[in-house]
Amino acid sequence: MNPPAAAPMAQGSATFPGFGEDAGLGLPNLTPQLEREITARLTSRDFSAWATSAARVGHCAKPIRLRGHSQTVDVATGEVVGSYSSDDEPLGVLHVRCGNRRASECPSCSRTYAADTFHLIRAGVTGGKGVPEHVTDNPLVFATVTAPSFGLVHGKRDGRKCRPFTPKGMPGVCEHGRPTVCHATHADGDDLLGQPLCRDCYDYLGHIVWQWWAPELWRRFTIALRRALARALGLSDSRLGDLVTVQYAKVAEYQLRGLIHFHALMRLDGPKTSGGFAAAPAGATATLLAAAVEEAVAAVSFDAPPQFEEDPVRTLRFGTQIDVRPIKTTSRTDDPDRELTSGQVAGYLAKYATKSAGDLVNGDNPHLRRLRATIAEVSDRVAADVRADGTPLRDHPYALLAKWNRMLGFRGHFSTKSRRYSITLGRLRRARTRFQRRLADANRHSQTLDVRELDDLLADDLEETTLVIGQWSYAGSGWDTEGDAELAKAAAARAREYAAWRAEKKRHPNR
Ligand SMILES: [Zn+2]
Ligand SMILES: [Zn+2]
Ligand SMILES: [Zn+2]
Repeated sequence: MNPPAAAPMAQGSATFPGFGEDAGLGLPNLTPQLEREITARLTSRDFSAWATSAARVGHCAKPIRLRGHSQTVDVATGEVVGSYSSDDEPLGVLHVRCGNRRASECPSCSRTYAADTFHLIRAGVTGGKGVPEHVTDNPLVFATVTAPSFGLVHGKRDGRKCRPFTPKGMPGVCEHGRPTVCHATHADGDDLLGQPLCRDCYDYLGHIVWQWWAPELWRRFTIALRRALARALGLSDSRLGDLVTVQYAKVAEYQLRGLIHFHALMRLDGPKTSGGFAAAPAGATATLLAAAVEEAVAAVSFDAPPQFEEDPVRTLRFGTQIDVRPIKTTSRTDDPDRELTSGQVAGYLAKYATKSAGDLVNGDNPHLRRLRATIAEVSDRVAADVRADGTPLRDHPYALLAKWNRMLGFRGHFSTKSRRYSITLGRLRRARTRFQRRLADANRHSQTLDVRELDDLLADDLEETTLVIGQWSYAGSGWDTEGDAELAKAAAARAREYAAWRAEKKRHPNR
């Protein structure tokens, strides 16, 4: 088997600082219990078996354990060409990656998910991985759609002061005696960023209702966008699909104030009937698409039902801060003053897709605590109202709010795409499985694998000439001890550092 961080050394250059006898494992703040478990593992007789298993699942923090066996059958001849049993594994059990998308749960699997998301977002912009190259010529815009304001919050304004002026029509001090201005210049990482100037003035109920219905606002936006496009192109709504379709990849990201906003790449393709990726007709430009997006964002609204008795109906809209810009793709050079390139944008989106669900939601500060407490209060009142008038809880529009408290009331997906935007994550995963199978074969026969062969792994019509038949049972989740999990995470972190170090070396070979 190939070790995860095989001696990387480029000729004459410095070696990877995290590799070698003196390099520590990077396991700070261990409890005595964890320390005992880790020491036991490192000195155990089956350490190398464990290390092999851990490396095979990419140092997943909580792999699934399976027991069973399988046979590989040649479809043409019916001959059994290979067999596998988990009994042959060094630890007597087959480990499979947990596949968790959250970095806080499994750093290794969340990175794989981020990489896959990046590839599928990028393929929709630049082509490749089964998406035709000519999508590059289709009009493309990058839009950021925000939530409205629910009260003054501290913010970072490009080196300028936070809130130097009292907003129009507002006194300099709120009814709770707190100032409505802030003369500080906040730097990144300042604890005040995103915190309300006055939590008693901040509209927590409005905030929660908006977040709860944000997916509905987005759905309405996509309908409004089709109408705006039809108008701009002089078509009826029903005829639009004969000429153009809009494909998008969208990611939800939390802002520091605990509200999500949406980033989306939107692409204008030819008619629906073409099966996707067809060229957009002349006249359907990125500028026209950008204008239609802006019009649709401004037009969309939704009357949200009250949360409990005496709560008002709120008319929800997106925030007035909206950024829509045409994207330069590789073959296009007609927009020199636009800085974003398609590759950069795909990178941003993929980063948001994994970052969004983790960092902020796990954070703790007075504003987030108040937000969670308010969600819990609302949920209690919903339950009480339902008991009082005897309607089934599931019919209540906010019945599930408590379940989404962890996500601060956002129940949508963090990354979604329209059907014909790109390839799917499933296809990427199948390709990876095929790759691993070929790599294992190559290793068994002591051959090297030609990376150029790998493109055809994504081919749609790849003919499977063998069939795998097996019987498996679930034997549990996770490593034997917390200490094992910490070791796996440390190894995954080291592999990540090594990859970053190698990338840096490649950029600056003489440093
Ligand atoms: Zn995992
Ligand atoms: Zn401030
Ligand atoms: Zn106040």
